[in-house]
Amino acid sequence: MFRADDYVKVSSLAEAYELCQKRSSLVVGGMVWLKMTSVTKRTVIDLSGLGLDRIEENDGEFSVGAMCSLRQLETHEGLNTYFGGIFKECTRHIVGVQMRNCATVGGSVYGRFGFSDILTCLLALDAYAELYHGGMVPVRELASRPAHRDDKDILVRIVIKKDGRKAAYMSQRNSQTDFPILAVCTANLGNQWFVSIGARPAKASLIQFTEDDFDTTKEMAKQAADAFSYGDNVRGSAEYRHSLAEVFVRRLMERLKGRSVSR
Ligand SMILES: Cc1cc2nc3c(=O)[nH]c(=O)nc-3n(C[C@H](O)[C@H](O)[C@H](O)COP(=O)(O)OP(=O)(O)OC[C@H]3O[C@@H](n4cnc5c(N)ncnc54)[C@H](O)[C@@H]3O)c2cc1C
Repeated sequence: MFRADDYVKVSSLAEAYELCQKRSSLVVGGMVWLKMTSVTKRTVIDLSGLGLDRIEENDGEFSVGAMCSLRQLETHEGLNTYFGGIFKECTRHIVGVQMRNCATVGGSVYGRFGFSDILTCLLALDAYAELYHGGMVPVRELASRPAHRDDKDILVRIVIKKDGRKAAYMSQRNSQTDFPILAVCTANLGNQWFVSIGARPAKASLIQFTEDDFDTTKEMAKQAADAFSYGDNVRGSAEYRHSLAEVFVRRLMERLKGRSVSR
C-alpha cells in the first residue's frame, strides 16, 4: 500500500521543485497509479493549485497542463478534431470514466509506463514536454530516458505542434478495459511517416521513414513492424504482437491515405 506522512499543496513550481529534491518526497498527479504501489514517502507534493489543469489552443499549438485528466484529453474537441480523434481513441479503453477523471497527463507521461497508450499516441506527433528544470524536450527524448527514482524534475505541460500531421491510433486488448497487448499510433506529413508502437510490452518508441523508399503500403507496414522488438507476457506472445503490429500499421496507413481498410 502507498503511504505518505505529509501532504503539501504547493503555491508555485519553484516550491514544488525545491521540496521534491529530497528523496523522501514525491510530486504526484492523480495518485491513481501510486496508490497501487508499496512506495512510502514522507511528503507528497500536489500541483493542483497551479492552474495546470487546462488545455489551451492557439494558431500554432496545443498546450496541455500536466494536471489535465485523461478524460480532458478524451473529450477535448479541438485536439480530437485536429488529430482525427486519436486522443479519444487512446484513452477510451483505460479502465473507466471515473478513473480517467483522476489520472493525469503528467503522471502518464512522466511515469513512462511500458503499457502507456498516452505515450504511444504523443510520440507520433510533434510533441514536447516542458520540464521545470530541464526545459522543453521532445517527448521522444523524455520517453527514451529510463524512469529513475532520483530523476526529480517536474513535468509542467505538454506542447503539441499543429504541423499539419494526420494521425490514427489503434490498440488491441484481451478485454475492453485491460492493459493493451499492443498500442500503435501512425502519423503522416507529406511523404514522411511516423510510427510509434507501445505495450510490446516495452515502453513505446518511434520510427520515422520516407514513403518514397517503398512501392506499397504493405511493404512500408512490414518494414515498420520489423523495426521494433517484441516480448512475451501473460497477455500475449512476441510473435502475436509482431503480427498485430504489421496489420495495425498497414490499416492505420490505409486509413490516413483515405483508402478502405483491407483485412
Ligand atoms: C488499474 C489501472 C489500469 C491502467 N490501464 C492503463 C491503460 O490501459 N493504458 C494507459 O495508458 N494507462 C493505464 N493506466 C495508467 C494511467 O493511465 C495513468 O498513467 C497512471 O494512473 C498515472 O497517472 P496519475 O495521475 O495517477 O499519476 P500518479 O500515480 O500520481 O504518478 C505516477 C508517477 O508519475 C510521477 N508524476 C506525476 N505527475 C508528475 C509531474 N507533473 N511531474 C513529474 N512527475 C510526475 C509520480 O511521481 C509517479 O512517479 C492504468 C492505471 C491503473 C491504476
